[in-house]
Amino acid sequence: MATMLDQGPIGGAELAGISRRGAVLAAAGVGACCAPANSATAASHAHTALPNEARAQPAPGPDAKGRGHGSSPIKIDIYNHVTPPAYLELIKARYSNAGMVKRIANIRNLWDMESRIQLLEKFPEVQQVLTLATPPPEMVAGPSESPDLARIANDGMAEICARYPKKFPAFVAAMPMNNIPAAIKEMDRAIDKLGARGIEIKTNVNGRPLDEPEFYPIFEHATRVHGVPIWMHPERPAAMTDYASESKSRYEIWQVMGWPYETTAAMARIVFSGILDRLPDLRIVTHHCGGMLPYFAGRAETLWAQLGSRTADEDYSGVLKGLKKPFMDYFRMFYGDTVLGGSASALRCGLDFFGPDHVVFASDCPFDPEGGPMFIREGIRSIESLDLSDEVKAKIYVENAQRLLKSIKRQA
Ligand SMILES: [Zn+2]
Repeated sequence: MATMLDQGPIGGAELAGISRRGAVLAAAGVGACCAPANSATAASHAHTALPNEARAQPAPGPDAKGRGHGSSPIKIDIYNHVTPPAYLELIKARYSNAGMVKRIANIRNLWDMESRIQLLEKFPEVQQVLTLATPPPEMVAGPSESPDLARIANDGMAEICARYPKKFPAFVAAMPMNNIPAAIKEMDRAIDKLGARGIEIKTNVNGRPLDEPEFYPIFEHATRVHGVPIWMHPERPAAMTDYASESKSRYEIWQVMGWPYETTAAMARIVFSGILDRLPDLRIVTHHCGGMLPYFAGRAETLWAQLGSRTADEDYSGVLKGLKKPFMDYFRMFYGDTVLGGSASALRCGLDFFGPDHVVFASDCPFDPEGGPMFIREGIRSIESLDLSDEVKAKIYVENAQRLLKSIKRQA
């Protein structure tokens, strides 16, 4: 498999952390040599640095013309999960949600990286940007201990990236979101010392919405200080009932359908609270291609245009007028990943909504019925079945991810 690592040594970095970041950027085809350059230069360097085969995007595997994996493109899988072994031991010992512990412990490819590497050998062109699987630190421990859990998770992911840089070129840092001052410190440590390329948060913090003022420094610090994106993962427990008469959500509706709803609700809170006006450079990657939003974009646009018409106990009349842009423009500032269970129709919908510059290839590996390969395979199949141009496919598979993995602060 061709990566930038094959094209020569990376020089100039003295600190281990910086050196690792160089490897990270290089393996992702990002072009480590140009990290501190200005934005136009960095963009053009990154483009020049892209291996030629990454621009043309034939279907995976040997094609009809006999070209094999030697000319396979790179596909950056920007949203998938691991549970570093030390973190797994912690959640087995401490996490009270027995159902979730059972799920995590039973999926070998989350925590056995030798097995994960074997699985990925079937997809030589795929490189995975790692994020921590649920549960996040704030769901496992209180605010005095969750920072330690985040450190253990981030050290574990950095170690996996260092051991297998060609398959795992980068990771995204876990945050102890029930302790914001410690989360800011851990963000600095994970990005500056371990080479994390962004942070991951859940769509709520133990049931609290993300637009509460206490959480704003996380958005601000990631955007203004580090210039990195935020990966936003849905989280919703069975205790969020579907019916007021019941005490829990049955048939796992809370997860299968609740999570895409949860993502959509969090996006709406971020938009209507004005966070994107305060931080116009904020970049958020939404799982499951923006949840329900692309499919219901017409409903969102026409019914939220009447915001306040259904509410008597709160005055929403100034909300839309207080935003700098039409409200639907903010929803299009998010990025949507291709984690849609292989549904090409849903992906078409997401592409129509976000546009080809804001859709990124991702697999949610290994949370599929086969324990890893299915979502990668079916995700690629759904993209290939849409009859997209090579240019659009190159954006989805590689180029949009490359832009996200590069700090925009460092280009400025
Ligand atoms: Zn996921």
